[in-house]
Amino acid sequence: MSSDILLHVCCAPDATIPWQRLIEEGHRVTGFFYGSNIHPYSEFRRRAQDVETLSRTLGSDRVIGSYEPLRWLEAVREHLLAPEGGERCPLCFRAQLTAAANRALSLGIGTLSTTLTISPHKDVALIERIGAEVCWEHCLDWVFRVWRKKSGFKLSVERSRRLGLYRQRYCGCIMSIRNEG
Ligand code: SF4
Repeated sequence: MSSDILLHVCCAPDATIPWQRLIEEGHRVTGFFYGSNIHPYSEFRRRAQDVETLSRTLGSDRVIGSYEPLRWLEAVREHLLAPEGGERCPLCFRAQLTAAANRALSLGIGTLSTTLTISPHKDVALIERIGAEVCWEHCLDWVFRVWRKKSGFKLSVERSRRLGLYRQRYCGCIMSIRNEG
């Protein structure tokens, strides 16, 4: 059954396939880019601009979150210096999905999904659990999909190249730049 969905968008390249597939299923999709985990601000703007470009290409609405890195730092402070893929990342996912859930409520949208599961580097079971908890706390429906299945990641690389989208070389936070080495 189709419905309005707020799609949490971690970046435009990762959103290409999920956004398109949800539209093809008949959903009215609004993209939400959080971005306060991104460092520095110029990188946030660059990624946000491509989310805007993708939304125009798909004919969908989108919301770009306010850039509030201090709030993100507060959310992950307990494990600030953990390595990429370590204990900081679940806190980051929760901060992103909580912001998305709050935005869905303010827009009157009752369903949430995320692009995070297209990455071959992300723990999909963890994302499923955190998303379900956040949705339960906010009385939202949670549409969980493992977007990297059915060659989703490979297709997203191809499509983002075709659309000329910027493909970043690090996850987003300053610690992931350090890990890029
Ligand atoms: S590495 Fe990525 S997922 Fe992990 S805390 Fe940094 S931005 Fe968030």
